Amino acid sequence: MSGQTPKCVIRAQGEDFQSKRRCTRTVIVTFLGTGSGAPTTKRNVSGIGLRFLQAGKWWLFDCGEGTQHQLLRAPMKISQLEKIFITHLHGDHLYGLIGLLASRSLRNGEASPLDLYGPPGLDRYFRAIMETSPVHLHYPLQIHIVSEGVVYEDEEVVVTCRPARHRVMSFAYSVEEKEKPGAFQVEKARALGVPSGPIYGALKRGEQVVLPDGRVLDGRDFVGEAQPGRKIVFSGDTEPCQAVLQLAQGADLLVHEATYSQQDKDLAVRSGHSTAQEAAQLARDAGVKSLCLTHFSPRYEDEEGEFTMEDLLAEAQAIFPNTTLAEDFYSLPVKRERKTMGGNEEACYNG
Ligand SMILES: [Zn+2]
Ligand SMILES: [Zn+2]
Repeated sequence: MSGQTPKCVIRAQGEDFQSKRRCTRTVIVTFLGTGSGAPTTKRNVSGIGLRFLQAGKWWLFDCGEGTQHQLLRAPMKISQLEKIFITHLHGDHLYGLIGLLASRSLRNGEASPLDLYGPPGLDRYFRAIMETSPVHLHYPLQIHIVSEGVVYEDEEVVVTCRPARHRVMSFAYSVEEKEKPGAFQVEKARALGVPSGPIYGALKRGEQVVLPDGRVLDGRDFVGEAQPGRKIVFSGDTEPCQAVLQLAQGADLLVHEATYSQQDKDLAVRSGHSTAQEAAQLARDAGVKSLCLTHFSPRYEDEEGEFTMEDLLAEAQAIFPNTTLAEDFYSLPVKRERKTMGGNEEACYNG
């Protein structure tokens, strides 16, 4: 490699999972671009941020042209961008990538590494541009070519992808937090006169212990209920399909494309996209908790028009009431269902 080429390693999927423990408490989805095809004055092309607030990091799903301009007006910093997931290689999801990578180099004092995930061909695309218009990246970049299955995993989160159904190879991604073990009830142990130290550790792990005075305690009685993790699914561009339906099962938030209205179903079929009604049906069938639609055709933007964005929302809500429409810079916190000892569930933003 010449001095002009970036520090880039191409890796196959599944290699080298990182195991560093990270905090992922408040999770917010922030839309940077919500239009399909070409930008308009109201909507940029695709780009969705997934922010892990306490960890001071965020991930980007797709990177249409102008994504870095949108970032200048969004609450995320380019230097804290840790991973980019590309769903497919259509321009409205990809053409902002190289510019954003280059700008990150100028703004990233610590030169923290960046991981880029996407379908086969993303590596060739990147190399072809670097050969003809080289950029010196001041940080290590790893490109991971994905295929169906787990594409990233650490102690807290698993990212899985499934092939969607579009005109070109396209992947839907799910980001799923792992279950958090229940809290150790130290007061209960103290009240029973359990000596602190290694016995606490054993109880915390749910083990059975014998105290010095002969009493036998079951650790499971001292640990609160495990807290389920959140699940967020990004459909990318797709017709309604089984793979996305399965991937979205039980998700807390499904971000699904709804390029067209059902009245333009013929256009959706021709271009490999979904209608708002179809996205809502899929959300309902997958048992998701909330649905956010994005990737809209500009044809519904005219507020005085025959069919408006409001109508598009109504079309989806008729089938799945808990639906919202994304807008550029719209932020959506993803709540966690918290299980308490009494078996009640409450929703909260924090882990
Ligand atoms: Zn698209
Ligand atoms: Zn596409």
